[in-house]
Amino acid sequence: MEKTFSIIKPDGVRRNLIGQVLAKIEQAGLRITATKLVHMTKEQAEKFYEIHAKRPFYQELCEYMISGPVLVSVLEGPNAVAVYRDIMGATNPAQAEKGTIRAEFALSIGENTVHGSDSSENAKIEISHFFSEIEMVNSLTKISH
Ligand code: ATP
Ligand code: MG
Repeated sequence: MEKTFSIIKPDGVRRNLIGQVLAKIEQAGLRITATKLVHMTKEQAEKFYEIHAKRPFYQELCEYMISGPVLVSVLEGPNAVAVYRDIMGATNPAQAEKGTIRAEFALSIGENTVHGSDSSENAKIEISHFFSEIEMVNSLTKISH
């Protein structure tokens, strides 16, 4: 069982897409084992995206991520990182495969509706930014479909 970390970004929450995005996550066989709405401060967004600090879009990205509330979630399942990256689709929605979350919902390369961890190691770090152990429901992963 692997964990990954998901964010439904401000454009997704603003356009009432939480339900549709979570439905795609569940349809892919992933379990939502923790979730909540948060409105990040500038400092929290900058810390979360520290790895992108040198990229030209860093400030724009941080400003955008604090432009409204986001839904942060922990997802669990076999190969959760890869499974979620798969259903998210490419960063640029114009290149995202049909049926993926970004192909269906993303507005642009910046406002691309979702974030998903790119490795199991980064998932652990990202989860720890937002959730404590007590907020994650482990027993859910034992329920069979
Ligand atoms: P994420 O990390 O959000 O899951 P990703 O791994 O597909 O997306 P990254 O390269 O890690 O893409 O970029 C992080 C985020 O930065 C993107 O999701 C997007 O919102 C934003 N971003 C990436 N490239 C650009 C760009 N050229 N212009 C503006 N924003 C960008
Ligand atoms: Mg990334």
